[in-house]
Amino acid sequence: MPNDCLFCKIATGTIPSRKAYEDELVLAFYDIAPAAPTHILVIPKEHIPSAAALSEEHAALLGRVFTVIGKLAEELGLNDGFRVVSNVGEAAGQSVPHLHFHLLAGRALSWPPG
Ligand code: AMP
Repeated sequence: MPNDCLFCKIATGTIPSRKAYEDELVLAFYDIAPAAPTHILVIPKEHIPSAAALSEEHAALLGRVFTVIGKLAEELGLNDGFRVVSNVGEAAGQSVPHLHFHLLAGRALSWPPG
């Protein structure tokens, strides 16, 4: 784990977050600058720089991530729909180099995204 990784520090509790879900592999917490009425970040606790670094060995972890996303959507009653986004690289808007999935809901989400 890189010492300077913001989301590693959030995963270990060194930096506080408003948690939505936690288990031994995954943490979900509310985005500090919400882009929608519901905006949660779902991260693996393991440091993975982005979706570009994923391989077959991460299959179970990703299964857990998406199971958590589904549970949160159900618990929060996101019945009108929601979006799951993972930005990869600066040009795509990735500002924190630790894999994370944005769970966005609560307003109309246009397509294609900007
Ligand atoms: P991205 O730009 O796709 O890498 O997403 C990073 C997200 O992390 C942004 O939506 C930020 O608002 C969010 N963020 C940055 N710092 C924090 C923090 N301390 N707690 C919660 N969310 C954060």
